[in-house]
Amino acid sequence: MRVLMVTSEANPFVKTGGLADVLGALPQALQRQGVETAVVMPRYGNSEVHWAERIWHQMHIWMGPHYYQVAIDQAVIDGVRYFLVNCTPLFDRWGVYSDMWGDFGDNHRRFALLSRAALEIARLIWRPDIIQSHDWPAGLTACYLRHTFAGDPTFWGIKTLFTIHNLGYQGQFGREVLEDVGLDGSLFRSDLLAHHGSVNYLKAGLVYSHALNTVSPTYAKEIQTPEFGFGMDGLLRARSHELFGILNGVDYRQWNPEHDHYAPAHYSSADLAGKQECKRALLADFGMPAEPDWPVIGMVTRFAHQKGLEFVAEIMHKLANEHARFIILGSGERKYEDLFRWFAAARPEKIGVRIGYDNSLSHRITAGADMILMPSRYEPCGLNQIYGLRYGTLPVVRATGGLDDTVQPGTGFKFWGESGWDLYGSLRFAIDSWFNDRDNWQSMMRRAMAQDFSWDHAARDYAALYRHLLS
Ligand code: ADP
Repeated sequence: MRVLMVTSEANPFVKTGGLADVLGALPQALQRQGVETAVVMPRYGNSEVHWAERIWHQMHIWMGPHYYQVAIDQAVIDGVRYFLVNCTPLFDRWGVYSDMWGDFGDNHRRFALLSRAALEIARLIWRPDIIQSHDWPAGLTACYLRHTFAGDPTFWGIKTLFTIHNLGYQGQFGREVLEDVGLDGSLFRSDLLAHHGSVNYLKAGLVYSHALNTVSPTYAKEIQTPEFGFGMDGLLRARSHELFGILNGVDYRQWNPEHDHYAPAHYSSADLAGKQECKRALLADFGMPAEPDWPVIGMVTRFAHQKGLEFVAEIMHKLANEHARFIILGSGERKYEDLFRWFAAARPEKIGVRIGYDNSLSHRITAGADMILMPSRYEPCGLNQIYGLRYGTLPVVRATGGLDDTVQPGTGFKFWGESGWDLYGSLRFAIDSWFNDRDNWQSMMRRAMAQDFSWDHAARDYAALYRHLLS
């Protein structure tokens, strides 16, 4: 069985979020299960791929009025072939979706070309049984397959799967882009590509693919409701018998307190001493005192509405009076960056904030903090809480999506509701627990550290889904 995945980002080449983590680990886990897996993605100006070799020099792609000559590089990681699409006018830039001036104005064409190139690769280089497209940037793949390549015998029998990592990002463009990407204007119909007056790439994936899945069982249910459906809930309810929820795994080779490259000390559930050293180093890094020994609450996040930052902001003045310290790493929307900078400036001894994207620091926070905070409004799966579990850094989460699926009362703290005060109640309870019953806290840590969210579980579920699709 062969699976070709289509994505806009994958570790270790380029990453803006959790999608890259998935595409950097699931293919290898599938390969270990005996599913031959390859990945197609763009080669951006900032991709890290010094070792890739050119395997196809000139691939000709006509897309509406445009002609592109692309070249394909290949990098193999643990038996998985990553096909990197070189197209200088579209991809050779610093930035995946945007630069400092905002989203690129030709994203509709850039990611349409990604889908087209994936199908050319399937035709010319590596024929799969399944094509699995991830999120809106790969949304047109099944649509091209159905229309542009209808009747091409190469594709007979190939099944398509569309994976939703985040329904909140849909790739919406003006109606005029259809011609630009070589699709017929008649596809602008509300049961096909049109959604509230726009061409919607995510919807294309939902409509044209044989099956759909998302990255946790709870999120698969939630997105069928108006509250979480971002306007797609009706369509998803209609396709609910072909919509599956498979919980993401995490890469324990990178995220393991016993041998974390970035952590200043190592520890395990049998010997937790190193965690205290990680905590001291983290506090020192933020110029905070180690004494008195108070719990450190960490947060690593994109600064986006989804992440529930208002809940934290609403109660920050109360939190700053707790016997606890907060260390927050994030980047994204300017208003949140400014707000959290301001909190840190107001109470530097209690609140440490670093604005930016810093992988090393994210590891050091996960290792050095006592709790990891994720108050997301919605969370398809979420990774940081799973990393936190493995590091004995107990998650405090809002009970939604993958957060609800992965955190249990014995391994962390959950709150429901939609206000900072709901979060406050849960955090207070967690802080009190830390102070009042250290033995119980340590047994929660050990229970959390023993949880297994490795990719092998997820890969088995995906392999079963592929078999179901091909049966
Ligand atoms: P999302 O994909 O919605 O951003 P996830 O929790 O699924 O959320 O994945 C986020 C990933 O990006 C995690 O691996 C997390 O550690 C990482 N991350 C997010 N923000 C930062 C940051 N500012 N610095 C370093 N890593 C970050």
